[in-house]
Amino acid sequence: MNIIFLGAPGAGKGTQARKVSTEFSMIQLSTGDMLREARMSNTSTGNKVSSIMDSGELVTDEIVIALIEEKLSENHGKGFIFDGFPRTIGQAIALDRLLESKYIGLSAVVEIKVENKVLIDRITGRYTCQACGEVYHESSRPLETNRNCDVCGSNNLKKRADDNEVSLRTRLKEYNDKTEPLKEYYLDKEILYSVDGLKPIDAINAEINKILMKYL
Ligand code: AMP
Repeated sequence: MNIIFLGAPGAGKGTQARKVSTEFSMIQLSTGDMLREARMSNTSTGNKVSSIMDSGELVTDEIVIALIEEKLSENHGKGFIFDGFPRTIGQAIALDRLLESKYIGLSAVVEIKVENKVLIDRITGRYTCQACGEVYHESSRPLETNRNCDVCGSNNLKKRADDNEVSLRTRLKEYNDKTEPLKEYYLDKEILYSVDGLKPIDAINAEINKILMKYL
């Protein structure tokens, strides 16, 4: 089973992808995480995308397609969860071709729907554990302990550089202009599902699992 999580920044794609990857033993491929990793390790790709990412614009299709292509070539014998990819029609077409060339198909595209005004609050209060990737929020999901991640105990928790209101407005515009059209693309292929991203995390997860059970 190979699936895509579609949704605006802050909709909860990463959180659900992490859960589903554990529950169904799948590989989570987040282009956002890959790009942040490239930036941290100062690779030429990382340096190229740094200011674009901070501004909230999308990096070029060419760059993200190359990252995904590389990951798909490592054969784990497990299904893939595409988290934050594809984000443009060009990327969706490239993904179709890549999967076809490996004789694998796309089972489902799950859209997590959340209104823009909720996203702004979610994103500006968000911080992430740099060690394990667990996501927290200043008001809706603060740390249970004083300063350490509840999951792995690390004290390295940070806000993302692009999680500010200015960059977020650009990210939302990019989503509306370039990523929203993917809904139509996958609707035509009859593999698009939508879930309500305002529900509690576990309720959304249960809804997603129900959809995915069909493809096991
Ligand atoms: P994310 O962590 O998914 O919110 O991504 C953070 C930033 O990385 C985005 O605002 C873009 O600048 C870049 N990015 C991540 N995935 C993609 C993609 N599939 N296409 C283009 N840019 C991307």
